[in-house]
Amino acid sequence: MTAQKSVSATPYLELCSILRDAATLGSISALLNWDQETYMPPAGSAARADQQSLMAALVHQRRTDPRVGELLAKVEGDKSLTSDPDSETARNIVEMRREYDLATKLPTDLVAELAKTTSLAQEAWKAAREASDFAQFAPWLERVMALTRRKAECYGVPAGGELYDALLDEYEPGMSAREVEAIFAPLRPRLAGLVAAIATSSKQLDRAVLRKAVPAAQQTEWCMAVLKAIGFDLEAGRLDVTTHPFCSGLAPGDTRLTFRHKTESFLEPLYGVLHEAGHGMYEQGLPKSKHFGEPLADAISLGIHESQSRMWENFVGRSREFWSWAFPIARRTLAPHLDGMDEATMHRAANLVTPSFIRVEADEATYNLHIMLRFGLERGLVSGALPVRDLPGEWNKTFKQFLGLDVPDDRRGCLQDVHWSFGLVGYFPTYTLGNLYAAQFWETINQQIPDLNARMGRGDFAALKQWLNTNIHACGKRWRAAELCRRVTGKALSADPLMRHLEGRLKPLYGI
Ligand code: ZN
Repeated sequence: MTAQKSVSATPYLELCSILRDAATLGSISALLNWDQETYMPPAGSAARADQQSLMAALVHQRRTDPRVGELLAKVEGDKSLTSDPDSETARNIVEMRREYDLATKLPTDLVAELAKTTSLAQEAWKAAREASDFAQFAPWLERVMALTRRKAECYGVPAGGELYDALLDEYEPGMSAREVEAIFAPLRPRLAGLVAAIATSSKQLDRAVLRKAVPAAQQTEWCMAVLKAIGFDLEAGRLDVTTHPFCSGLAPGDTRLTFRHKTESFLEPLYGVLHEAGHGMYEQGLPKSKHFGEPLADAISLGIHESQSRMWENFVGRSREFWSWAFPIARRTLAPHLDGMDEATMHRAANLVTPSFIRVEADEATYNLHIMLRFGLERGLVSGALPVRDLPGEWNKTFKQFLGLDVPDDRRGCLQDVHWSFGLVGYFPTYTLGNLYAAQFWETINQQIPDLNARMGRGDFAALKQWLNTNIHACGKRWRAAELCRRVTGKALSADPLMRHLEGRLKPLYGI
């Protein structure tokens, strides 16, 4: 009863309490989802859909409760909470307002229409991809795009901005298409130049070294050894097996990671685990025990979330120092499959760069070109400058220009990603923003922990994890991504650190 008394003590505390309840309901829903992806028997799917739909309604009810609106108006007018705009409470209130507006701005009929259309569009997309026939998906993409434009109009276009900004803002608050463009445009020719130089280099990697049939149990043992060493807290998290790897920071003290075995490439599971563990350590580092349900306990943006996963996957996991430490462990846990292989070969194998058609299989360098392609196209689809019927032609033309390859069919072209069928428009840029933030943070980290390389070579990742906990994770949503970047690195986000990282690592490996 004491808790009840204290929550009603002030409007601010009452607001936090309602949002905490909404987050608790959300965590139950996330647990149902995790179970569905891991252990639920197939016959449970109909009941699970009912459970999920009820949970979604309960969460939405709490978040859009008119009481939240009343309390927000009260706390916004309370100078003792908001007079210092940088204070925790003031920042919390600004982000609570943003989330409330996002949740309440869409009319119910539009939400229902979007849910129904995207669920049918996903089925149409699966069939179209299977048949590699864009024409089957085109009418659905038209419908999704029309609804997406309506959604953006409801959110509202920022002054001087475009419709796309309203969509991007859902995933990367405060970022505009023009800002993304300003960072991507100079990066593209530099990346394309590096990729082209690598492709024509006389030093190429023999890919056969990667093809080893390593049993699943050994892959798990190896991935668990790395997961423990880098500092993912297994008292507050788990690693399980799924078809599509993901991370769910579902509740305070409970972060779930998943990965998949791959018998023909033992590196893929490792990099999957490092990636998800980066997301997972961010979730574990957020101040959830104190602020669960409040923006202060939430991730800043998808871009910042992705910066954490890419940092562990690429900046740490593909470095020479990582392999100095990890290779002997790999040899032991994966024995006898790595017999005859050495550390240098492994490091080269981990840094193979080669243009390919599928984004999710792309390497660290070409990956961003895949994203830039999608960003330009979806921006055109939203503005109407690119009619849906012209998408495949435009995709193939731009792909050739960016990656130098002729797309053979729609399955390996514009039908490969699930995002648009889900109505996820404005999402793609966050992947490359993640790489860019990771690179810029990485330079600062190396200045502040000058012996980081030596530490990694010994398998000592504690200082790195501590730095991320203090400088990124503990902030929650206190700062927007651009502000965090400026505070942490002293500079605005730039393409230079990523180019320096890629050139510094790849040029020596490829002798260019
Ligand atoms: Zn990720």
